[in-house]
Amino acid sequence: MIKISQSLLKDMITDVCPHFIKLKYFDKVETEATAAMTKGLLFETLLLGASRGGSYEMPLLKSKKQSAAEIAVRETVKYAKKVLKESEIVFDPKSTQTEWITKDCIGHIDCLGVLNKTEIIGDVKFTAFNAAQYTKELRWSPLSDNFLTQARHYQMLDKKKRNFLFTVFSEKGWSRFFGVIYDEERIRVHRERVLTVKKRIEEMEKNNFKSNPTSLQCNVCQLNDICTKRNFVPEIENLIEL
Ligand code: SF4
Repeated sequence: MIKISQSLLKDMITDVCPHFIKLKYFDKVETEATAAMTKGLLFETLLLGASRGGSYEMPLLKSKKQSAAEIAVRETVKYAKKVLKESEIVFDPKSTQTEWITKDCIGHIDCLGVLNKTEIIGDVKFTAFNAAQYTKELRWSPLSDNFLTQARHYQMLDKKKRNFLFTVFSEKGWSRFFGVIYDEERIRVHRERVLTVKKRIEEMEKNNFKSNPTSLQCNVCQLNDICTKRNFVPEIENLIEL
């Protein structure tokens, strides 16, 4: 049985395609990082010393100069260091990408740190959004649920029961911090979610990851360009008169 990670929990939405879970978590199929993802990887590398998967470097242009994307990330790192210093947040580079494992779960934290003399689990995020776009995303997308799932998963694995701090830095020159206080009851609920997901995955395995996704699901699937089972036939959707 694979270990339950926070990203697996987030992917186990109600109508998830079992074949997607097989490809991503059992076969460990890798997809090419998007431009936004590579910026995030470089940002973590320069700010914390490593990203998930190690140290990341962006390729130079043919002219041997840094790309506009790399310059923007480097400027944001300078800005982030200044904000962290002024906020008296200290991240410990020795703790970057520490792995926490239990018999059925796994987590890789960005870093540990200290805020106001209190130990915290830290997470750094890079964004290209302006402040208004980010607020809209936070309000209308599952972003805040994603944040909470990530924080609670790591808090559940943390023997020291630390509070969690997300630090978000934008290349547009703004930053935001989001805290998640350690809460025993919410961790218990998270633990139940882990057990439910574990059972669903065991069922999927038993059924050989049998899948019957709609073309709508396949159209938005992260792995649709490498999947051989993609459904290309659209269902007829009823138009609703306005
Ligand atoms: S493309 Fe479709 S069938 Fe393939 S993994 Fe994604 S959702 Fe499943």
